[in-house]
Amino acid sequence: MSDYILVLDEGTTSTRAMLFASDGVFVASAQKELTQHYPQSGWVEHDAAEIWDKALACALEVIPKAGGAACIAAIGITNQRETVVAWDKTTGEPLTRAIVWQDRRTEPFCAELRGAGHEDDMQRRTGLLLDPYFSGTKMRWMLDNVPEVRAAADKGTLAFGTIESWLMFKLTGGDHVTDASNASRTLLLELGGAQFDAGLCDLFGVPHSALPRVIDMSGALGETAEGLFGRRIPITGLAGDQQAATIGQACLAPGETKATYGTGAFVLTNQGIAIPRSENRLLGTVLTQIEGERTYAIEGSVFVAGSLVQWLRDSLGIVEVSSQTEELARSIPDSGGVTIVPALSGLGAPHWKADARGVITGLSFATGKAQLARAALEAMAHQTHDLAEAFAADGTAWETLRIDGGMAANDWMAQDLADMLGITVERPAFVETTALGAAMLAAAGAGVQPDLASAAEAMRGTLTRFEPDMDDARRQERLSRWRKALAAA
Ligand code: ADP
Repeated sequence: MSDYILVLDEGTTSTRAMLFASDGVFVASAQKELTQHYPQSGWVEHDAAEIWDKALACALEVIPKAGGAACIAAIGITNQRETVVAWDKTTGEPLTRAIVWQDRRTEPFCAELRGAGHEDDMQRRTGLLLDPYFSGTKMRWMLDNVPEVRAAADKGTLAFGTIESWLMFKLTGGDHVTDASNASRTLLLELGGAQFDAGLCDLFGVPHSALPRVIDMSGALGETAEGLFGRRIPITGLAGDQQAATIGQACLAPGETKATYGTGAFVLTNQGIAIPRSENRLLGTVLTQIEGERTYAIEGSVFVAGSLVQWLRDSLGIVEVSSQTEELARSIPDSGGVTIVPALSGLGAPHWKADARGVITGLSFATGKAQLARAALEAMAHQTHDLAEAFAADGTAWETLRIDGGMAANDWMAQDLADMLGITVERPAFVETTALGAAMLAAAGAGVQPDLASAAEAMRGTLTRFEPDMDDARRQERLSRWRKALAAA
């Protein structure tokens, strides 16, 4: 049988290879940690050679579990987005360390562009804001500060790419391509443009010739080079991690929304074929591109989610393990008027206040561990409620919310989300939705499943549902306390 799907999941902290059966059942995986380099405050780098070596090693470890390369129908790749690799097309070697999405070193260049009045135009054209998070300014920084990168650009041998692009180059033995979802995180692609935009490349000072060709996310996208796995395996799925998770949660119709609660929280709503134009400082991004046809998503991110629980655990010692927040929250009828605004590293969407700081209001002598733990979990629903309002104001009201990520294991939080949002919250039994989404794209792209919708239907697995059950007076009381606390942040 040759219909296993091999997914390479290139995260920020680890690289994994995961094997799925054609019905989405998870079969096996291998994982290796990635070295994080922090050369200065605010800088984060990865070694691209290490990423490739470990991705290959993980793939070689799981392929025998399928019965060999002959049993792998297709490969799907999903990756940490926005991280930039620079390599030489002739040697295939990295020219410098990769600059990771979290890296803030290009803030001065972003401030300069904002100061020159480019932000509105940038958001209209690319869906993004002028923030160091995105890839374009990282490329420019390498050109300005790494002589080897500039020299390769002058010789015409420079290749820039995000992580999936780097892996495609190594896996295929020289294809220089990027998928549309990753390309839409660079500031160099117009949301409606098929290829990188020459004018945007000029504005950022990035040579167009150093950029990959933008391709589909599902279909015959490439083949592994001879000699790598003993057989040329088709690569038929590519997607940035949040897009992959959205697909893995089967959010394939307009309005369908997923929220991933990990360290931070990422919410994406399917926007259909209409190019998103947020009036509420949400991002517009490519969700899928298949046979050249795109669908889009609106994206909002909250900086502090699970990391608030980590803070309760590691700095305050209120719990020993994160999951204890659930029994503490359940042990009392309410938070006793305590409200936490988790702006420990500023506020993300839709507020975008980098200099805001956290606030705890309503403390009394009756406040104990349970009230603080409950208020911390309640803050997730409050933050998500603010996003829901911003999405609705942009014309994309949520019908249900599909949740995943480490924190989604908390049943109390899942029920509170349903109560505060007033909609059904769904949680899949298999929470590795990012890898599953890449497997769905690859299965559809290889013809193992007829199309992406069928792949999602067949591979999604079972769900737990949480139905709203809170009276509106109580919801309004919570929101009014939250808004007051927010004003103080
Ligand atoms: P990431 O992918 O961002 O590293 P994960 O998806 O692994 O994060 O989620 C881990 C986060 O979720 C941690 O911050 C942890 O504190 C939090 N978390 C995990 N389980 C629970 C739980 N049962 N209740 C509350 N928070 C939890």
